Amino acid sequence: MFIKCTEQEAYIFDQVARAARELGVDAYIIGGFVRDKIIDRESKDVDIVCLGDGIELANKVAGYFKPVPKVSFFKNFGTAHIKVDDMDIEFVGARKESYRSHSRKPEVEPGTLEDDQNRRDFTINALAVSLNKSNFGELIDPFEGYRAIEEKIIRTPLDPDRTFSDDPLRMMRAIRFASQLQFTIDEVTWKGIKKNKERIKIVSQERITDELNKILLSAKPSAGLDFLFQSGILAIIFPEMVALAGAEYIDGMGHKDNFYHTLQVVDNIAVYTDDLWLRWAALLHDIGKPPTKRFEEGHGWTFHGHEVVGGRMVPKIFSKLKLPLDNKMRFVRKLVELHLRPISLTKENITDSAIRRLLFDAGDDIDTLMLLCKADITSKNKQKVKRYLDNFEMVKYRLEEVETSDKIRNWQPPVSGEMIMEVFGIPPCRHVGDIKNAIKDAILDGEIENSYESAYAYMLRVAATLNLHPVK
Ligand code: ATP
Ligand code: MG
Repeated sequence: MFIKCTEQEAYIFDQVARAARELGVDAYIIGGFVRDKIIDRESKDVDIVCLGDGIELANKVAGYFKPVPKVSFFKNFGTAHIKVDDMDIEFVGARKESYRSHSRKPEVEPGTLEDDQNRRDFTINALAVSLNKSNFGELIDPFEGYRAIEEKIIRTPLDPDRTFSDDPLRMMRAIRFASQLQFTIDEVTWKGIKKNKERIKIVSQERITDELNKILLSAKPSAGLDFLFQSGILAIIFPEMVALAGAEYIDGMGHKDNFYHTLQVVDNIAVYTDDLWLRWAALLHDIGKPPTKRFEEGHGWTFHGHEVVGGRMVPKIFSKLKLPLDNKMRFVRKLVELHLRPISLTKENITDSAIRRLLFDAGDDIDTLMLLCKADITSKNKQKVKRYLDNFEMVKYRLEEVETSDKIRNWQPPVSGEMIMEVFGIPPCRHVGDIKNAIKDAILDGEIENSYESAYAYMLRVAATLNLHPVK
């Protein structure tokens, strides 16, 4: 075999070869699996293409395994899937495709291996390995895909203009592969992307967002995000991000380019975490800056309230991008809203009260928030970075100190709303919330102890000022 397989993979491919021989059809391993093997990247998805009926081949292969794996198939597409151990194996008949301009769904007819390789998006994705007796294990590489892998380059097999116009999703895929594999994009291919950027509009939001997530999950997401920006695609699919780009100057005073700052923050966070939502929080942390940008005479550029405005933008962006609107969105929003808090603390005295409030507001997400804050320190000025990092470590230390003594994280108010209503014989009303808040503030400010007894006594005092008295 040209590619190095595990014992398990070799066994599976032998069975596919045997089934194909018995059916009298040629079969090949093709696409991503071959690419990933050459790169030495883990891959559990195998695509098998055969010069015949993919569903029939899948059934035959399945019959060789015990227990017989379930064959799921799509009659219309002529594709079938089986799962053997942890391997997902997809079977399809070789096909030739032709496109109509309004849709990315091609007309399909049976074709040769060459036709099938022609319809693949990139030369690195068009590699095939033979499973046939005459040349078993041989690499079939009509477009120098192997060399493209060595040279770390994304290139279309055919005319890029056609390739991207036919299926504009491929533009996102090109950029995603470049980002995941840390490859460059061939110059002609890149021109094809720029020329066809508007065609991205015919791609469904789900597919676009899928690729965006894969870019965000790559080791250095800035590469893919910058490609999206430079190609002009980002302006179409995510204009709020593009609004961050550029630095404006008035009276010689400028501000940093918030787009490239954001990319740096995303790269920084990517070192610490693979969590997609924390990476989204990094991507969106300054999204409120463009709408809040002001120039203040004699002072310079300000972005007052950008964390609040940014927080409000999160549900809208998630909804537009068809990202989940559940607790993941709420987590991202919370982090965007709180991202300045730990750093702003360092400017004043780091009082116990401020630390307690931060712990209370962040709850279980405090460590994640601190990670985001650390990633947010990107100044080119080394002294500034050092000062920020020193302050940051100080806040971290103080957080631990206060949490150990006060246990504010995940804190529940010792006196509940129900209890307030019962004690004073009042229905749900504004007073209940006011009393609860007063107790919370008193505890967080250290005016009273974090205990039931002192909270109860304090409740009676606050209620008295509102002319409320216990009914019993
Ligand atoms: P990954 O699984 O990491 O997303 P992959 O290359 O395996 O990468 P798949 O979407 O699984 O991508 O597709 C398998 C193969 O099918 C690809 O390697 C490529 O040859 C082909 N392919 C997938 N999508 C397209 C497309 N939009 N246009 C042309 N060929 C495609
Ligand atoms: Mg795949």
